[in-house]
Amino acid sequence: MDIYERLGVTKRVNGAGLLTRLGGSLMAPEVLDAMREAAGSFVDMAELQTRASAIIARHTGAEAGIVTSGAAAAMTLATAACLTRLDVARMERLPDTDGMPNELIMFRAHRTGYDHAIRAAGARIVEVGFNDRTVGSGVRGLEGWEIEAAIGPNTAAIGYAANPTRQPPLAAVAAVARKHNLPVIVDAAAQLPPKANLKHFIAEGASLVAYSGGKAIHGPQGTGILCGQKDLVAAALIQQLDMDILAETWMPPVGLLDSFFKDRLPHHGLGRGFKVDKESIAGLLVALERFVVADDGAANGKRETQLRRLADLLADIKCRATVLSAAETKRYPILEIKFDEESLGFGAVEISRRLQRQSIPVHLSERRIYENVLLVDASGLRPDDEQAIASALAAALK
Ligand SMILES: *Cc1c(COP(=O)(O)O)cnc(C)c1O
Repeated sequence: MDIYERLGVTKRVNGAGLLTRLGGSLMAPEVLDAMREAAGSFVDMAELQTRASAIIARHTGAEAGIVTSGAAAAMTLATAACLTRLDVARMERLPDTDGMPNELIMFRAHRTGYDHAIRAAGARIVEVGFNDRTVGSGVRGLEGWEIEAAIGPNTAAIGYAANPTRQPPLAAVAAVARKHNLPVIVDAAAQLPPKANLKHFIAEGASLVAYSGGKAIHGPQGTGILCGQKDLVAAALIQQLDMDILAETWMPPVGLLDSFFKDRLPHHGLGRGFKVDKESIAGLLVALERFVVADDGAANGKRETQLRRLADLLADIKCRATVLSAAETKRYPILEIKFDEESLGFGAVEISRRLQRQSIPVHLSERRIYENVLLVDASGLRPDDEQAIASALAAALK
């Protein structure tokens, strides 16, 4: 019996994509080996993060970077860093931001359920722009002058939720921010692949970028990356590390913290609850190296083949299955499964419920469920999962 069987936890087939609620991603043996090795020795966590910073910097083009406990934690730390910069007295006060610049300007259409991560640091989100493009009521969203008009003495940062539509262009937002000496924080948690996006947002002018380590990077599920401007990354790291240290005996590793925190050391900061274990840092770094050199074309080719096999298996089932290639989706191949609610007597919502009730529960992506479409995202599929999905769908449609 494996660990889940011993725990009485049901294993699931994941055609829904790399989602936190289904366990993020699966790790390669090399990543697990690194984690096991890391578990065998004591290290200075500040030194480990400083080494991580050099590696993350190399792969992102940023000045610095740290491993965080997920992208959401990276967003909280990023916001905290923008609120405090290098001021240790401010670090001590967070999330109380009375009397200090605490506003984060954000395009209305970029607001998501992950806003909590920003607000948790003590920032107040100031919305700008309109939803016309998103709702379809018009062609405009956010203009540069609207950001400019919202900037005032209380502005601490500008927030940006990265998305494939790239609206408004990050470069334009960053240009306004630079003019006012304000940092731009980018939530790029799920913007990988393509791996070019590891460098894209920094190149476009982002000050801090958050990525999930437990999604496409296939690192430990609880990890993320925060990369960007060195002083801000240092401010984020020092608010995350265990700071039960004496200034007299502290030997900051050379390269990140040492240039900013010499005589004045903050106590435990807002991010103390977001600690990352040494095993996860080691695992994430190995996963990142693998992600960077991986052959995306070959991986997408394999995914597409598996989805085509699944589409063939669905030929006799009452649905219409279409493979969308990586070129069509501009990311990775997807299988679109359309259901005819009228002839079936039930729609995709009921089908999704039934799939989850099978003896081997199956999860498909519900992004288009209200159009009676379920999507198969191959990134979480293991070999032969297409068989399980086809049988579950046949049973669900009976
Ligand atoms: C997944 C996700 C997050 C959270 O990432 P974690 O690594 O799970 O903390 C934040 N923002 C967006 C847009 C995401 O998709």
